[in-house]
Amino acid sequence: MNTEKRRLGIMGGTFDPIHIGHLVTAEAVRNEFQLEKVIFIPAGNPPHKQESHVTEAWHRYVMTVMATYSNPFFTVSPMELERSGPSYTIDTARDLIKEYGNQTELYFIVGADTVGELHTWHDIHDLLKLCQFVAATRPGSLCSIDEVFHYFGASDRRHIHRLATPELEISSTDIREKVRLGRAIKYIVPESVEMYIRKEGLYCN
Ligand code: ATP
Ligand code: MG
Repeated sequence: MNTEKRRLGIMGGTFDPIHIGHLVTAEAVRNEFQLEKVIFIPAGNPPHKQESHVTEAWHRYVMTVMATYSNPFFTVSPMELERSGPSYTIDTARDLIKEYGNQTELYFIVGADTVGELHTWHDIHDLLKLCQFVAATRPGSLCSIDEVFHYFGASDRRHIHRLATPELEISSTDIREKVRLGRAIKYIVPESVEMYIRKEGLYCN
């Protein structure tokens, strides 16, 4: 019997829109940690939508599917979009373990800016018992991963890994701003995502 644990990568995000930075990072972590696949999980719309201006979940989900479709090791889950109420990563981790079995190792892939906020996450110590985190370096991030390591104790730290990934200075915020200003976004999002943004008139105002 094969007793090896399955290793799955999880890339959560708002993906408003998904861009090359997300894809390159996910693929780099998949290779380095020998992950069976990476599941992209778009975050649901926050309850106070008006204040946050997040694009409708359906658009973000479709763009994520299109961007990842050509990679046989990438897949997209609507699980956080289907959940009502606030969405916590610990619920996502528990649901994934239920779906894929106890013998599954989950690797949550996060940018350095996100890892800097990790200590504020709901039930973070329990979450770190359930899964691993891979912090990919990201240019312009103010957070020093050393500070993050300092905050967490030795047993938590064993579940946080770092990986230097190709440094792509791309953010969804910047892409939305470029579209609003009528600037080019070629090569920073997949062509299909650019076409979708243009066709649906996203980020124009
Ligand atoms: P926004 O500007 O709207 O916050 P974003 O570009 O940061 O968008 P998110 O959907 O918020 O994208 O990010 C999802 C995850 O991807 C986070 O863990 C974030 O740190 C990481 N990430 C985002 N952009 C990059 C990048 N260029 N390189 C590596 N990781 C990234
Ligand atoms: Mg972000």
